[in-house]
Amino acid sequence: MHYKFEGKNALVTGSSKGIGSAVAIALAQGGANVTINCSSSVDQAEGVAETIRKMGRKAIVVACDVSDLAAVEDMVKKTVDAFGSLDLFVSNAVYSDRQLMVEADMKGFRRTIDVSMWGALHGVRAASQQMLKQGNGGAITVISSPHAIIPIPTAMAYNMAKAAIDHMARTAAIELVKSGIRVNVFHPGWIDTPGERKFFTEEQLNEGAQGLPMGRMGSPEEMAHGVCFTLSDEASYMTGSTLTMDGGVGLPWWSKRTEGKQ
Ligand code: NAP
Repeated sequence: MHYKFEGKNALVTGSSKGIGSAVAIALAQGGANVTINCSSSVDQAEGVAETIRKMGRKAIVVACDVSDLAAVEDMVKKTVDAFGSLDLFVSNAVYSDRQLMVEADMKGFRRTIDVSMWGALHGVRAASQQMLKQGNGGAITVISSPHAIIPIPTAMAYNMAKAAIDHMARTAAIELVKSGIRVNVFHPGWIDTPGERKFFTEEQLNEGAQGLPMGRMGSPEEMAHGVCFTLSDEASYMTGSTLTMDGGVGLPWWSKRTEGKQ
């Protein structure tokens, strides 16, 4: 990891697995202490925390549902109690039910919005309040998705939540700019994570990957490099922006018609 986070304390939501765990580990490689969060996969969260402790950094696990504002505020407090401050925050936790909009039972639809939209706002709000109290600025990155822009069928609630948090982050960026708190958005492409493996078989993943512009899915570690850049001092002039690392998924479909022309 090229980026330096010595003396910084971080909280990454949904960091027991997938992109969140890779970000938490990368931050610790850069020198940060990290709070690991999950809703139920506590054993996996403890495994990530143990990996970080073996690097000589501090790590705590806080299991809480990000859709619960009071629980998120308490998680920020526990982070500050354990490490002394909160300097870096990553909103990453996600829930997504896949159903056609006309067939969706509204329970799954609302749960997707509760975790993926309200959960992101709860984290950004509680982290910002703490950073404002400290008065030294800070950096916040909201993990969103290209589906904030490109609608994927059967995922209307997810698409809506991601579109909303992109604009939430930009609004937070302008409200916080004078306080030295930077807020940015990160769009990953199709990444091989436990979350994706809930929806697709190995065969479907392989077939889908071949259809991507680069012919493969991305890795959580590749995403962690991008997220760490947005949080680093090297990104000191970046706020209200979106960094996309999607392997070309966002390119228009006609730009992929290059067979026989390369
Ligand atoms: P993942 O493998 O499904 O991991 C999700 C993480 O969030 C887990 O640690 C999970 O822990 C936690 N979580 C879920 N609900 C929670 C809740 N209510 N409160 C607290 N934690 C909760 O996800 P991923 O694929 O790595 O995705 C990470 C982020 O990248 C998400 O924001 C996602 O939208 C975005 N993204 C992913 C892809 C992709 O292809 N993977 C593409 C674009 C964007 P528990 O299991 O304990 O709940």
